[in-house]
Amino acid sequence: MTEKPRRLELGFLPTPLQEAPRLARALGGPRLLVKRDDQTGLATGGNKARKLEYLLADAMDQKATAVVTVGDLQSNHCRMTAAACRKLGMEPYLLLNGTRPAVLEGNLLLDAIFGATLHFTPLDDAAAVDRELAGLSARAAADGHRPYVIPMGGSNSLGALGYVDALRELLGQSAPRVDHVFVASGSGGTQAGLIVGTMEAARPPLIHGVSVSRTRDTLGPRVSQLAAETAVLLGLAPPPADHVLVHDGYIGPGYAMMTEACRDAIRLVARTEGILLDPVYTGKAMAGLIDLIRGGRFNRDETVVFWHTGGVPALQVYREWFADA
Ligand SMILES: *Cc1c(COP(=O)(O)O)cnc(C)c1O
Repeated sequence: MTEKPRRLELGFLPTPLQEAPRLARALGGPRLLVKRDDQTGLATGGNKARKLEYLLADAMDQKATAVVTVGDLQSNHCRMTAAACRKLGMEPYLLLNGTRPAVLEGNLLLDAIFGATLHFTPLDDAAAVDRELAGLSARAAADGHRPYVIPMGGSNSLGALGYVDALRELLGQSAPRVDHVFVASGSGGTQAGLIVGTMEAARPPLIHGVSVSRTRDTLGPRVSQLAAETAVLLGLAPPPADHVLVHDGYIGPGYAMMTEACRDAIRLVARTEGILLDPVYTGKAMAGLIDLIRGGRFNRDETVVFWHTGGVPALQVYREWFADA
């Protein structure tokens, strides 16, 4: 077997696994638990901490002094990368998709507080992302740095390893068993890692990815590919195609565009459990779970884990959706 890549300690792990009895009762469905990866640390937490533990270990091993990465204006990944860079003494360079807003808020405000170099530009396709990442790396090098580039969402096989560990962490926490895991899926690395994590489990849960941007036909093959690459790092066989389950009916008009179902899910979870979800990822994933519970998809004696991947700083940006109180 190949040697497993090194991992730093950046997050507050293991994260808690909490019962959500009032939410379960309100929905009249299966037992519900919430895996609190919104509490991983790194400036309010989220799923990227686990990926960064592997990615930044690699950056350190390569003697990088700066990290260049990319995301949307409200990227949680960029905010958490900036925080982790500061903790490790590296310089963060962020490529942000769009034009610089007059007011910096949410994650963007936090990026600014971390003193990250912000480069705003519209990124219309993968070629533009590659070109602009190369440009920003060149700028970091011109500033005297040795840059390390992390792809969108930290979603390569190395980053996904964090979620192989995470699934094993969950199975160590949850007695007697977990039947289903729900997770928001964007660039697919989290879902891919969770799927690989089930592979040596005695009674593996089914991993449901709720897409927040791409259709099943696009995201499914991407997750399969990433899962296969991640399995290789661990000397495992690629997971079978039927392990990749994508729900794509909860995206609404597009990535980061609010839906009523998402807004209602955020309110319901806040008002039954005192837990905040986010408008871009976890609100839509929860909207999907709620819809499937109401549609009778699960038995009452099953256990469903909702994986809270974070994202709460972006909530402020969607304030007009919650102005009815
Ligand atoms: C990035 C992110 C996700 C999606 O993770 P991927 O690995 O990109 O699929 C889900 N939730 C939150 C809050 C995120 O920031």
